[in-house]
Amino acid sequence: MKLSVGIIGLPNAGKSTLFNAILEKNIAETESYPFCTIDPNVGVVEVPDKRIPVLAKITKSKKIVYPTIEFIDIAGLVKGASKGEGLGNKFLSHIRETNAIAHVIRVFSDSNVQHTQGNINPKRDIEIVELELILKDIQTLEKQKPPKSKFDKKEKVFFEGVKRLRDILNEGIPLYRAELEEKEKEVANFLNLLTIKPVVFVLNVDEEQLSQGEKIYYLFKDSPVTKENSVIINAKLEDELIDYPRSERRKFLKEFNVQNLGLDKLIKRSYEILGLISFLTAGEKEARGWTIKKGTNARKAAGIIHSDFEKHFIKANVIPYSKFVEAGGWNEAKERGWIEIVGEDYILKDGEVVEFKIGK
Ligand code: GDP
Repeated sequence: MKLSVGIIGLPNAGKSTLFNAILEKNIAETESYPFCTIDPNVGVVEVPDKRIPVLAKITKSKKIVYPTIEFIDIAGLVKGASKGEGLGNKFLSHIRETNAIAHVIRVFSDSNVQHTQGNINPKRDIEIVELELILKDIQTLEKQKPPKSKFDKKEKVFFEGVKRLRDILNEGIPLYRAELEEKEKEVANFLNLLTIKPVVFVLNVDEEQLSQGEKIYYLFKDSPVTKENSVIINAKLEDELIDYPRSERRKFLKEFNVQNLGLDKLIKRSYEILGLISFLTAGEKEARGWTIKKGTNARKAAGIIHSDFEKHFIKANVIPYSKFVEAGGWNEAKERGWIEIVGEDYILKDGEVVEFKIGK
């Protein structure tokens, strides 16, 4: 499953700084993504998972492969963008291609860095950005024509969805925050609307605010930002630290009472808001992590590895990661009877180690 997160926010919020902090890490630690150099605004990073190297050791795997996530630095969102201000509509097509949005908000104060709106006001900035996306979605919905025949049930249902979505947006509510029925979600996804995409807020703070930790949330009372849908990051600091190994960087951040690297926090949140989990495979060839939506069954999960696997799925051997480690390998786990043989409808859980049995 290809996973793509678009980084948006007002100018000078710290988008490119965040993007660099993410991308440089990738260039420094992996060289396997020539893609990074093709488009300067697109970067692919590995999703860190400590379990995978442990599996590799047990099964003496030749290769370790992490799932990846793509970040896109989307510039050009300013007040009036939906009417063509700034880079106008160009950025919007980039947002359409993503699964989720990382909305960077300037919380840091720095008199050397100009703010397009004159002063620091995170709540106002969120409203500006969300309003532009809402206006764009309304434009898209207004282009939809009513059904030609009142007897066409499908068209009728579709257009009812269009009207309801328009009403919600006209109240100033982005669709990701609205309670939608399944058929309304289908319309929003079909039209590739912008505000239906789940959002992680990136609160870009300065050093002082960083050491204050969660206290910063007082600034976001009565706003869409919650502890569950946001991460606190000092993009500049993380960017300055990229030449150091991860362990050093973590040590340095601990001085600010920060436990995890910004990138790791952002990836974790993105997984949560998108409802994603990982299952693992381990053998001599490779130890690897795979990303799936929660609720994916074994046959569909096999299809993530190869479409033929989905077609010719017979059964799967499944064992929780901790049990696999405790047993010390496939054979040992089999001897202890810890492996569950499951059929196509089995719903995989995060961290399960899986071996698919495929027919011809
Ligand atoms: P963008 O327009 O959103 O891509 O913003 P940039 O990433 O280009 O950042 C604009 C300016 O703000 C640059 O000079 C950055 O060095 C600075 N900046 C970004 N993040 C921080 C931060 O956390 N603290 C401070 N003091 N400056 C920052």
